[in-house]
Amino acid sequence: MVGLKQPQHDPEWHLKNPRTRKWMVQCVTCKRWGYRDDAPAKFFGRDHLIKHFEAMKLDDRGVCDKCRGE
Ligand SMILES: [Zn+2]
Repeated sequence: MVGLKQPQHDPEWHLKNPRTRKWMVQCVTCKRWGYRDDAPAKFFGRDHLIKHFEAMKLDDRGVCDKCRGE
């Protein structure tokens, strides 16, 4: 696919695609989306997730590190 112009993958794209969706998490407090910090080193769409989101670790209530820290 190198050289082909691809449409920009926006955050919506990652949610609709089950191959990236399965690694995504959402904080219940700030509603931000991120990708699981224990996601494997290689999987489909990882490059896109890293570009658009940050690693996010939720606690058992579904709250991210940043919300917990404040
Ligand atoms: Zn949060």
